[in-house]
Amino acid sequence: MEAALVLIKPDALKKSLTGDILSRISSAGLEIIGAKVVRVSEDLAKMHYAHLKDKPFFQDVIDYICGKQHGRNKVIALVYWGEKAISKLRALAGATNPEEADPTTVRGAYGRITTSGVYENVIHVSDSPETAEREIKLWFSPEEIIEDLYPTKTMVEGGRAVAIWA
Ligand code: UDP
Ligand code: MG
Repeated sequence: MEAALVLIKPDALKKSLTGDILSRISSAGLEIIGAKVVRVSEDLAKMHYAHLKDKPFFQDVIDYICGKQHGRNKVIALVYWGEKAISKLRALAGATNPEEADPTTVRGAYGRITTSGVYENVIHVSDSPETAEREIKLWFSPEEIIEDLYPTKTMVEGGRAVAIWA
């Protein structure tokens, strides 16, 4: 069993594609074990896309996930769980470059390349169990997920015990 982070990106929200994306993804037979709407800080965006920090398009991609091109700083973050979750979801998402993505995939159907060259490709999907763990810990706290995916520790905050990633 595997977990994967899925983000419904600002272009998808602007185009009201959430319902269609969720129903396409439901064909994978996975379970949603975490879901929320997130206002994406510049710091979160930069940590999420740390592997691209030396690319010329890095700041454009940060601006994109922070909603700068779509008038609203908002993404929907989901954690999917199930057998071969990552490969199933990556296949449904399609190739990174929406022009190369198969037209039957989410990115092939709805993505585009902007005039400045950014791939507006509608959704994010973790690409390996290692990146899934890093990304899920970045976007979610343990208490926001209904499976015990990774080790946690307990911290006392305002007199209340809260779980944080160990
Ligand atoms: N991206 C882009 N141009 C590129 C490569 C990536 O605009 O040449 C953007 C695109 O939105 C992509 C994101 O940066 O989804 C993260 O890139 P990554 O290589 O991790 O691709 P993914 O895992 O999303 O398929
Ligand atoms: Mg990636």
